[in-house]
Amino acid sequence: MAQSDGVTGKGLSSPWLAGANLIDKLLDTNHPCHKVLTEELTDDPEHGHLAEQFGGVRKKVNFKKAAKSVLNGLKFIKTDCAAAQGLASLKARIRQPEEVKGYLPPEWHNLSISRKSYVYRLLSYDVLKAWDYDSLELSVACGENPLLFLGWAIICAPHAQRAMAASLGLEKPDIKDEDVYEFVDEFRMTPESCCNFLRLAENDYNPNPYHNNIHAADVTQTVFSLLQMGADKYSTAPLEIFTLLFAAVCHDQGHPGTNNAFECNTRSDLSIIYNDSSVLENMHSARAFRLLTHQADESNANFLAGMQATQRDAFRVIFTKAIMWTDMSLHFAKLAQLKAILSSAGPDAPVEKFYINIEGRSIPLVLLIVLHIADISNPAKPSPIFVEWCDRLLNEGFAQGDKEKKRALPVSPMCDREATNRSDSQLGFIKYIVRPSFVLLSDLVPRVVNEILPIIQDNLNYWNEQKMADEEAAAEVEEKVDS
Ligand SMILES: [Zn+2]
Repeated sequence: MAQSDGVTGKGLSSPWLAGANLIDKLLDTNHPCHKVLTEELTDDPEHGHLAEQFGGVRKKVNFKKAAKSVLNGLKFIKTDCAAAQGLASLKARIRQPEEVKGYLPPEWHNLSISRKSYVYRLLSYDVLKAWDYDSLELSVACGENPLLFLGWAIICAPHAQRAMAASLGLEKPDIKDEDVYEFVDEFRMTPESCCNFLRLAENDYNPNPYHNNIHAADVTQTVFSLLQMGADKYSTAPLEIFTLLFAAVCHDQGHPGTNNAFECNTRSDLSIIYNDSSVLENMHSARAFRLLTHQADESNANFLAGMQATQRDAFRVIFTKAIMWTDMSLHFAKLAQLKAILSSAGPDAPVEKFYINIEGRSIPLVLLIVLHIADISNPAKPSPIFVEWCDRLLNEGFAQGDKEKKRALPVSPMCDREATNRSDSQLGFIKYIVRPSFVLLSDLVPRVVNEILPIIQDNLNYWNEQKMADEEAAAEVEEKVDS
């Protein structure tokens, strides 16, 4: 992102623009400066922040003291020039911030200016496309709403990025037309209704170590990254891409932090409602649709309101199927289905060949598999992202294992904190599940070969080294005990 160089004023970020506005007020002899400063620097959080940057003026100030602080700040950014010249030079070149026309969610206004700049960078279209995107960093940057911010930035692009840039007084972001999906215009959706729904969905996530709102944001970004790498060519309609992104947003809503086996073994209410069949996936999808059906209108969150009825019907079918397919127990069957099409038709077959018929509808098989693969993609992410997610998942599993022990139930695989080896758990998962999935995907999306498969190999090497180190440490302990 462009930063101010303090001399040319090119690409100035908004603290400097706000500073210039403040300086205007300071220099205007007819302006009641004292009143402006005492009121604005004390009460306006943005000017308070600015005053902090310019020399710690925060509370009650008088004109001279504030002016000195501001001018000192200008000296700091242009030391080879007298303060007055620096001010004149800056003012001459400064661009006035555009009037903010686009919608910005209230959560954006709650961020400080420096946070806004940071979050804007993390939500730029190009950054969001990257395979090495770190959703955990976004969650630290924006506080409690990573899913809202990330979903808004992807689904409401380029409107979201333009509104953020305008609010920061930056130039319009350079987003290439061929990359952007333009869902807002295509489906006559208001960014406000989209954000209102995203907020409802995010609030429906539990604060589990792994299956939480950050994981939902992570999977949504990963789906977007894979689509932009080329998976989107296996879809014939923008509605399918739009639906898939919303399915990613909602795919673990209400997750209790325990898995399907636990729900069934404990005869939980959920297992009874869904007859032991894809219990959690049924629940996630149903919770999302309950929000859409019962809460969306009163919360101005019905982002489907501008669609035709047939589009809403198609949304429901693809949305529910995509979430149902995140059930790990379907993994091998679904990949085999795709493999069979690939081996009979070849990767360059017309896109229609990759559609399957479910309940009388033609469904884009590759897109459904993309969501499932994104859901298991943590071990394919670069360091240190993959380690952080691994520990989160193991910790959630261990908490389930503790519950199983308490109830005298058999402890589920990878859930026994005393018996589970971290490296072994990852090596098996990568070798038998993650790597074959991405190898299959690489037949459809060639960029996967150079951009993802080498990372998976690096991570396999990492876990092999960890395993060897663990074994050496265990052997040393054994030797000590023997001697
Ligand atoms: Zn998930």
